[in-house]
Amino acid sequence: MTPVTHAKGQTVALFGLGGSGLATARALKAGGARVIACDDSASQMDKAAAEGLETGDLRSIDWRGVSSLVLSPGVPLTHKDGKPFTHWTVRLARDNGVEIIGDIELFCRERRAIAPDAPFIAITGTNGKSTTTALIAHILRKAGRDAQMGGNIGAAILSLAPPAHDRFHVIECSSFQIDLAPTIDPTVGVLLNITPDHLDRHGTMENYAAIKERLLLGAKECIVSIDDGRSLAIADRIANVDLISTRGSVRTGFFGSQTAVYFVTRVNEAAKVADIAGVRSLRGEHNLQNATAAFAAAAAALAPRAIDWPVIASALRTFPGLPHRLEQIGSLGDAIFVNDSKATNADSTEKALLSFPSDIFWILGGKAKEGGISSLRSCFPRVAKAFLIGAATEEFAAALDGSVPYERCGTLDVAVAHAARDAAQSRAEQPVVLLSPACASYDQYPNFEKRGDHFRALAAALPGFTPVSRAA
Ligand code: ADP
Repeated sequence: MTPVTHAKGQTVALFGLGGSGLATARALKAGGARVIACDDSASQMDKAAAEGLETGDLRSIDWRGVSSLVLSPGVPLTHKDGKPFTHWTVRLARDNGVEIIGDIELFCRERRAIAPDAPFIAITGTNGKSTTTALIAHILRKAGRDAQMGGNIGAAILSLAPPAHDRFHVIECSSFQIDLAPTIDPTVGVLLNITPDHLDRHGTMENYAAIKERLLLGAKECIVSIDDGRSLAIADRIANVDLISTRGSVRTGFFGSQTAVYFVTRVNEAAKVADIAGVRSLRGEHNLQNATAAFAAAAAALAPRAIDWPVIASALRTFPGLPHRLEQIGSLGDAIFVNDSKATNADSTEKALLSFPSDIFWILGGKAKEGGISSLRSCFPRVAKAFLIGAATEEFAAALDGSVPYERCGTLDVAVAHAARDAAQSRAEQPVVLLSPACASYDQYPNFEKRGDHFRALAAALPGFTPVSRAA
């Protein structure tokens, strides 16, 4: 845990007692602050009280003595359902002139107070944040460093070990978290990409992009992938930026091409610094972007020790990958089984379909998003057969009709059995049984993790199935 010592003696109001809220309350209390914790859910309040945290209704406290409102990133700050919206806690704080911040801001302040030279790598972007964050932490550990990973992935930031000059914090930051971190100042800030997302919470693309940009404004060094227009425009505005790309070369620094990462040594000359061909956790062009960004960020964080570059390169090759993201879970005969349950929309599923050239036995469906799978039409020739599950069945059947053979399976158990059967009969060299639903899971599962776990269990129960052991 990182006790928040800089707030010692202060009274802090805290709203939102999910995992990160509870961790934040504990860290504030451990540092000597008085925390008044609150949540809409009575059971969360009870849980906090049961472990000795002070709980209270923030409507009835005396706000004059409160120094900050610490908000969980799940609470709408400026917009809800695309319309301007102010949460009641935000209104109360504003009316009383109390600042509104989140746990990442508390971490940044603590770092400045106790270990300003502690390496802190912050990663944002619309897609690829978790993969890149996990990749950077993996690289640093392989390079023998103490890497603490968390934020929007895994552990809450304040539940990690405190910042120290020989300890690297590798932190995934969602736009909601950056919105609550006004003085975020990483040693290395990474921006992967910006595409439309979360507009319900941020109102406009301009606002969303401006929040992402904020992560870079206080960074000592920035890594920005310039493959989309908004990221390119941001890169033009900020200082200390290393540009990266997977769409072409850059003037200086790193770029990705085919399956390799290159470093520009002089004008029009580049040296290959890493090759990820055959690395099954980093399939697809999107993962080349993640790998290039991770290489550049690790190189910057470890600078000036270029001696570590071969270590970075070999660490990329041993990345175990993250569960539910193009995760190869095993094989049956020649067929490989891939769990991409995290693909809850067509954009993500497109990345999965583009990662395999042909012979895909595609399990899809669930609660469809707007637009369905019509944008995936150009990938249909890669699909040998589709196996439909869940509420989207009829909509997706209509979209596939005439282009791809399909079967209505209803549930995942039927889909896995039938896809395995058909893949086994296929003459392809390496058929791929791919769960990439292009849908939310809520019609049949509580979340995408449970759906992916069910896929894994169903596959593991197939006679002759060989599970993959995850690389270290
Ligand atoms: P995030 O944490 O930003 O949601 P993840 O690393 O969990 O990102 O990846 C989620 C999904 O986003 C993946 O399953 C993949 O489909 C897609 N994705 C991953 N990396 C990228 C990228 N660099 N560009 C575009 N899409 C990506």
